[in-house]
Amino acid sequence: MLTESMHTHTYRCNHADGTEVEYIENAVRAGMQVLGFSDHAPYVFEGDYYSGFRMKREQVQDYFDTLGALRDEYAGRIDIHIGFEAEYYPKHFGEFEKLIRPYPAEYLIMGQHFIKNEYDGAPSTRETQDEDTLKLFVDQCSEGLATGLFACVAHPDVIHFTGNPDAYRREMRRLCENAKKQGVPLEINLLGIRTHRFYPNEEFWRIAGETGNDVVVGCDAHAAADVCDDTSYAIALELADRYALRLHDASFILKGGHTLL
Ligand SMILES: [Zn+2]
Ligand SMILES: [Zn+2]
Repeated sequence: MLTESMHTHTYRCNHADGTEVEYIENAVRAGMQVLGFSDHAPYVFEGDYYSGFRMKREQVQDYFDTLGALRDEYAGRIDIHIGFEAEYYPKHFGEFEKLIRPYPAEYLIMGQHFIKNEYDGAPSTRETQDEDTLKLFVDQCSEGLATGLFACVAHPDVIHFTGNPDAYRREMRRLCENAKKQGVPLEINLLGIRTHRFYPNEEFWRIAGETGNDVVVGCDAHAAADVCDDTSYAIALELADRYALRLHDASFILKGGHTLL
C-alpha cells in the first residue's frame, strides 16, 4: 500500500480538479502518512508568451497560505509538505529562482515537460526520432541537476524518443549517472501507468537499475482520487522488482540536501 507521495497538484495549474481538502481527506482515508504538494510553479517569461499549465505568480501566496493552514490542521493525522514542480529552462531559471525564493517551498521537483524554454521548443512528450532532441533533453536535465536545487526528477523517461535504441541507452545512461552524481532520486510516475502512457519506459528503468539510482514513486495527482493510486502503485512495485531498483519512500527526496529552505 502506498503511504507517501510528494507529487500532488492543485486546481491552480488549470489542469487539475478538486480542493486541497479533498486530496488530503482521500489520503488520510487511504492510510497515507505523507502527502507533498508540488504544483506547477509559475515561470517568468519575457514578452507576452503565456504558459497555461502552471499557477500564476499572483496565486503563489494563496498556495502557501492554504496549504500551510491545512498542514497545521491535519498535523498528527498526515504530514503535509509544500513544494513545486518545475522545468529547467536555461534562459529563465535565474529569474525563476528569484521568484520562488521568498516563499517557504521545501522542495523542487524537476518535471522537464518541454525542450529548450517552452515557447521555443517542443513538448518532451512529442514523439521524435531526432537524436539531437534526445541529447538536448538530457543536457538540459543535467544542467538543471547541476544547480543543486532539484530534489527529484519526476518522470525522467518523459522524453518520447523512438529512434535508435543505442542512442537512447547512451543518453539515458548519462542522465542516470548525472542524477546519481548529484544524489537526486528518480521518480516512477504513476500518472504514466494510470493513463497508459509511453512511460514508464522499461528500457529506462533497466538502465536506472544498472546505474544504481535511488528511486521513489510519485502519484502525480491531478484529481483527489489519484492521491492513493494503489492499482498503479502495484505495477510500479513490479517494475522496481524487475530491475532491482533502490526504492525509497517518497519523503526520501527531502533527505538529499536539495531542500529549498
Ligand atoms: Zn500537471
Ligand atoms: Zn506533476
